[in-house]
Amino acid sequence: MEQKRMLIGGEWVEAGSGEWSDNLNPHSGEVICQVPSATVEDVDRAVEAAHKAYYETWREIHPADRAKLMFKLADAIDECADDIARMETADMGKPYNQSSGDVPATADIFRFYAGIADKIEGECLVTPAKTFGYTLHEPFGVVASITPWNFPVVMIGMKGAPALAAGNCTIFKPASSSPSTALELGRLATEVGFPPGVVQVITGEGGAMGSRLAGHPLVGKVTFTGSTAVGRKILEASINNIAKVTLELGGKTANIVLPDADMDMAVAAAARTIFLNCGQICTAGSRLLLHESIKDEFLAKLIPLAESLKVGDPFDEATKLGPISSKQQYDTVLSYIDTGKSEGATLLTGGSGPDDPALAHGFYVSPTIFGDVTADMTIAQEEIFGPVLSVTTFKDEDEAVEIANGTDYGLAAALWTRDVSAVHNLAARLEAGIVWVNCTNIFGPWMPYGGYKVSGLGFEAGIEGLKEFTRVKTVLIDTTDTPTTWPTE
Ligand code: NAD
Repeated sequence: MEQKRMLIGGEWVEAGSGEWSDNLNPHSGEVICQVPSATVEDVDRAVEAAHKAYYETWREIHPADRAKLMFKLADAIDECADDIARMETADMGKPYNQSSGDVPATADIFRFYAGIADKIEGECLVTPAKTFGYTLHEPFGVVASITPWNFPVVMIGMKGAPALAAGNCTIFKPASSSPSTALELGRLATEVGFPPGVVQVITGEGGAMGSRLAGHPLVGKVTFTGSTAVGRKILEASINNIAKVTLELGGKTANIVLPDADMDMAVAAAARTIFLNCGQICTAGSRLLLHESIKDEFLAKLIPLAESLKVGDPFDEATKLGPISSKQQYDTVLSYIDTGKSEGATLLTGGSGPDDPALAHGFYVSPTIFGDVTADMTIAQEEIFGPVLSVTTFKDEDEAVEIANGTDYGLAAALWTRDVSAVHNLAARLEAGIVWVNCTNIFGPWMPYGGYKVSGLGFEAGIEGLKEFTRVKTVLIDTTDTPTTWPTE
């Protein structure tokens, strides 16, 4: 059994406790490798190594030289792209044809932020006479980057690239069920010359170790992507260090189709947004809101399309949906399907895994669509994070907005119409950090996003996302050489 070590202070190490956790392949249910189960003491070692690296090495390196290292890392990722994509697919079940797109996208995230690393400028302030003032955007020093399992390698880019570009050292804590690609990027970062302690990777279950990382007194910034429940724990932990926290959390995206929409485009997108990555996307369009006049025609096209998507071995080129990433998440998805049925929604297709003996040991769920879903049902309110779509109808735009805004989440929404007035009116009224119009799930490092309501805090990506990794210092200089006086003098 392969045992992968974690990266602390430039060394590949086991957990202090000597304990390991199994990493399962969700297709076969077999253990692929083991990774160290880091303890609170391991976290302390990593944070101290990052703190030392920041003060002794990293902050002395000119931003242009930081950028060169990041460009080298991007090239190294591209050179190993196939190996990394295979690791990702084996770890979390994402079809290889999708993982192989995620890896070059990750390299490009590092390039995007490398290009900005030497352009992070402060401002010259308009100050009182005979004084001079300016601001600096300084790094925090040590950043904790805690990531989920749905886009493991992309998440390392989305958090690591802006953190490093802004001059921080970063400690990655990937999800316990998909740690391999984070460890691989740690290896590449070491190989291309990042000084020891600047990039580190610790592995294992979140829990006590994750809370220690988020709340460690030497951690100045925590960037977290994951569930809202764990996001709340991160905030609790950060009471300890008053770290700046960015949270990218769960969602329940409403995908709203008005009667004038291009139906074929909207049907194809409705399937893609919920079934891509097996529905394990925070912005998956898990609620399809159809105008009542188009429901029957829309579903007559959508259901056969969903049934035509190949569910199977993620290394098969024809596969569109691989297994759910872990047994625990598989059980969660099945339990939501039971809840949908018991609360009175109509199962239109799917509901279980395909009847294929070759997939019997994997965590498979076929594309599932529920009709007659009312806005108050559990499957319309809670994030399922699987290939399960709820279909609800609305009679007019007011009702569409009411339903769309009627959950605790506010991550994203999508809208299908050619009516420019409806676009502006609805985009303004939807409580969501992203509103896609006639498209869904387009992302890139150029596009800042952040959830409304319980979907998040702060921003990721874009220049807004980079600023989250800096703190502002003001420098004010008195040029007069006159003694300071009291206000009344
Ligand atoms: P999760 O919240 O269970 O875990 C996320 C990470 O937090 C993992 O690395 C986990 O080990 C760690 N963790 C667990 N407990 C912790 C604790 N007490 N302290 C610190 N860290 C801890 O999420 P998941 O199941 O891996 O991912 C799915 C969730 O992520 C979904 O809710 C999804 O919507 C969300 N997500 C959001 C975005 C976004 O941009 N908003 C993107 C992707 C995924």
